[in-house]
Amino acid sequence: MFNQYNLDEIRNRARAAFIGMAIGDALGATLEFMTATEIAAKYGTFRDITGGGWLRLKSGQVTDDTEMALCIARAIVKNQAWSTEAVADNFATWLKSRPVDCGDTCRKGIRAYMLKGQLESPPNEWDAGNGAAMRILPAALFSLPDEELLKKYVIEQAHITHNNPVSDAACLCLGQLLHMTICGAGKNRVRRHVDGLVTRFPTFNFEPYRGLATGYIVDTMQTVFHWFFLGNSFEECLVGTVNQGGDADTTGAICGMLAGAYYGMEAIPRRWIKKMDSTVIAEIEIMVERLVAASPAGSMI
Ligand code: MN
Ligand code: MN
Repeated sequence: MFNQYNLDEIRNRARAAFIGMAIGDALGATLEFMTATEIAAKYGTFRDITGGGWLRLKSGQVTDDTEMALCIARAIVKNQAWSTEAVADNFATWLKSRPVDCGDTCRKGIRAYMLKGQLESPPNEWDAGNGAAMRILPAALFSLPDEELLKKYVIEQAHITHNNPVSDAACLCLGQLLHMTICGAGKNRVRRHVDGLVTRFPTFNFEPYRGLATGYIVDTMQTVFHWFFLGNSFEECLVGTVNQGGDADTTGAICGMLAGAYYGMEAIPRRWIKKMDSTVIAEIEIMVERLVAASPAGSMI
C-alpha cells in the first residue's frame, strides 16, 4: 500500500504540518484579540513574525496551541503507544510550569484531572471552544492512515478538556483533512470533505464568510476553511487567516497545520522558519520523525 516514495512524501507533509502549526501560532499571536480593522489600521497587512501582542512574546515564541500539541507528541513518543493518561499527565506538568497562556476550558479540564484523575470532562454544551482542535496534530500523525485509530485518539485527547458534539465534529473533520492532505489529496477532495461536515453540521457553513474569528470552534473553523480555500499558497492562507484577528494564534495554528500538510515543506517561507524559536523547531523535527515511524504508515513499507 505504501512504498518508500510515499513515506518520504508523508514525512515531508507531516513536518510541514507541525512546523506550519507552530508558525501560525507565532505569527498570529501578535494579533490575538485585535479586530481585522485594528490590524489593518496598525499594519496594513501583517505578514512577518515579530512577537509582541497582548502576551508580550519574543519573536518566534509559540503559545499554548503548540505547547499542548507537544505535550501529546511527547506522551506518544515516550510510550510508543496511545495513553490518554500520559497525555493528561503532560498537560498537568505543563500547566504547573506556568505557561505563557492557557484557555479557561483547558485549565478547568486539566485541574479536574489533577484533583480527581478525571480523564473525560462531563458533556457540556458551552465547552465549544477551539482548545481541543488546536492540538490534535500528533494524534493525526500517530494514527496515519487508520481512520478508526484517528477517531479514538482525537476524541480521547479532546475530552480531557472539551466534551462537546460541535467541538468533536470539528476535531474529527480536521483530523481527517490532515490524513487526506498528508497522503496527497487535492483541494477538490478536501472541499468535498468539508462540504460533508457542513451538511451534517450546517453551523460550519462558511459561505458567505461572516468574518468572525473568535475562539468558538465554529468561528475558528469557518475562518480556517475560508482562507484555506481562498489562498493559493501556504503564505496566502496564513496571512489571510491571522489578519482576520480574534483568536489569531489558534486560527493561525489550525490553518498552518492544514496548509502545511497540503503545500509541503517547500512552500513554507524561509523568513518565517528562520524567525522561529529554534529549540521548538528542533523538538518538532524529532517528534514528527518518531510519530510517523511509530504510526501504521511507518510500518507499512
Ligand atoms: Mn495560544
Ligand atoms: Mn488562541
